[in-house]
Amino acid sequence: MIYNIDIVGTCNLRCPSCPVGNHDQQGYGLKRKSGFMDIQMFEDILTKIALEDSEPEIHLYNWGEPLLHPKYAEIVKLVMDRGWYCGVSTNLSHENIDMRTVAKHIPNLLRISLSGFYQDIYSKGHHNGHISLVKSNLYKLHHIIVKQHGTEFLSRVEVCYHVYKDNVNDDIAMIYRLCGELGYCFTPRWAILMPLEGMLDYISGNAKEDMLRIEERLLISAQDGLEIAKRNPLPDCPLRSEQTAINHDGSVSLCCTVYDEKYIISPSFLQVPRQELQRIKYAHNLCQTCMSYNLHSWAITYKDSDWNEKGNQILSELNTPYIINQNQHPRLANRT
Ligand code: SF4
Ligand code: SF4
Repeated sequence: MIYNIDIVGTCNLRCPSCPVGNHDQQGYGLKRKSGFMDIQMFEDILTKIALEDSEPEIHLYNWGEPLLHPKYAEIVKLVMDRGWYCGVSTNLSHENIDMRTVAKHIPNLLRISLSGFYQDIYSKGHHNGHISLVKSNLYKLHHIIVKQHGTEFLSRVEVCYHVYKDNVNDDIAMIYRLCGELGYCFTPRWAILMPLEGMLDYISGNAKEDMLRIEERLLISAQDGLEIAKRNPLPDCPLRSEQTAINHDGSVSLCCTVYDEKYIISPSFLQVPRQELQRIKYAHNLCQTCMSYNLHSWAITYKDSDWNEKGNQILSELNTPYIINQNQHPRLANRT
């Protein structure tokens, strides 16, 4: 099973598409405590996982920014020492975090989320973020990784590019080139509305203005995404059958797509056996609603070929010179 463990329940950025830090200011109406996971609690969680799961995969994020944790490197080491897969996702827009700490233990996946190469586009998706800092950190990381671990470790770094209508231009081409120069993987992702609560608001016609503004920026509209999901309904939701979302205070959420604390299914991962957590998830009313709209397929943008076909049809209509493929090759190509 995949365990999405939010070791940090806050973020230094204020991305408009994300409820972290925005839930009060922008009328999301969603509540969640902020904070940092206690290192002893983290170790206890790993111990419980080891007893219940023979092949766990640990991701040290869900809604928070993991690099903010003062014991980030120690936490990565705890996972890697067990021989388990470890994934991290970060905005890398940090001035006061030493890249030597980040590169001390390289997880199997070190994902850096981006939405532009130039500040005007980047800041639309990553409010409060500074692309110059990100670029500088990408270079620093490259040099430290090569020196300390060897060039083969560079491919563990993935630059995840969130594709919107207005960033398939020089921005994406320059990020692609930068990834080639630094030996990082380039992975485009069709941007969608999140969290799940926001998408449910959209479906019921109650989307907040901020959400509608983000929707206008999507290359594949929410409606088109729903239609793709309707054509590809999964029999079960992998986000409940194969994943568990653990918050920084040790509580468990129904899944990684929901944000509000009302979807916490247990106050303590440590005190509830895995089978019981699964039973609670499968009995939850929200899953019925979610699956009735095929949002469980939509949330994982299943399936890639259909999303790629739709996205590239729109890119062609917009006369964009690029073809983009999520999880398929070529990830970025010239149309002509
Ligand atoms: S960087 Fe990630 S966690 Fe932070 S506000 Fe943006 S989307 Fe949310
Ligand atoms: S069915 Fe929907 S609400 Fe339930 S676990 Fe899956 S994505 Fe989450």
